[in-house]
Amino acid sequence: MINHPFQERDALLRMTVCGGQARVLLMRTTQMAQKAGDLHNASDVAIAAMSRLMTGTAMLGVMLKEDTANTTVIVDGGGPGGRMTCVAHGGSVKISMMNPQMELPALADGRPDVAGLIGKNGTLTVIRDYGVGEPYIGKTELISGELGEDFAAYYTSSEQTPSIVSLGAIVHEGMVLSAGGVLVQALPGCSAKTLEMLDMRAMLFSGISRDLFEDPLDELADRWFKDMDMVKLGRQPLEYRCDCSREKALRMLKTVGRQQLLEMLEEDHGAEMTCHFCHTTHTFNEDDLKALLSSGMN
Ligand SMILES: [Zn+2]
Repeated sequence: MINHPFQERDALLRMTVCGGQARVLLMRTTQMAQKAGDLHNASDVAIAAMSRLMTGTAMLGVMLKEDTANTTVIVDGGGPGGRMTCVAHGGSVKISMMNPQMELPALADGRPDVAGLIGKNGTLTVIRDYGVGEPYIGKTELISGELGEDFAAYYTSSEQTPSIVSLGAIVHEGMVLSAGGVLVQALPGCSAKTLEMLDMRAMLFSGISRDLFEDPLDELADRWFKDMDMVKLGRQPLEYRCDCSREKALRMLKTVGRQQLLEMLEEDHGAEMTCHFCHTTHTFNEDDLKALLSSGMN
């Protein structure tokens, strides 16, 4: 039972509009943002920044059909928040940030200073790894550091797909009241007239964080797109999830090399690896390291 729209479970709503000339992804990611904020003990502005990046990365993630596919987005803008790395596997998302505790005063209009935290002198890098073959890597210069525009620029320049992206979150003293975003993307064969109409519509999404706070996804979709020959294709849950494990940590430990493993064995009598995405510490004792060294690594 939903008492208030902000308690609606995180989800993606897929639609097409204008007779299939464009697709729409509408997302609520409130709980995802809360989880990231709690895990990283983050400031309000850092939660807002992480939330926007997670929503943008999830949009790319859910577009890949393959089970083995992962999408990684790295934002490195030179700001005091430091680099952010976000990984999406379908609708499962995780994020890490260099300085998540960095706080900045809000802007004059009350919005969090996300661009100030991220910086705007840098890049947004998208890595699409299909699990087989070489990953696809696309890189664009940051435009505003607010991320919505930056994702739109990525789609337009790297993927030649005209797109509107709006991302937002309302965070108050560590509590996420709303988070999410919308992607409107031209599909092959989209007419110039439709593109123009979609562009005009972009103004409607400028306050998306407030809209998400006030209304459930279905109502927003109806309000924004019902007059555009909207077809709802389905709903999919979204969540924050880290897929790290002892086995994966062990595989990473293998890559440090024989010499360093010997040093760990002699000096520390073991090894600890802490995951940047969920802060779980995976511990390996002397016997684990000895087994690793005798397993034929070089
Ligand atoms: Zn983890």
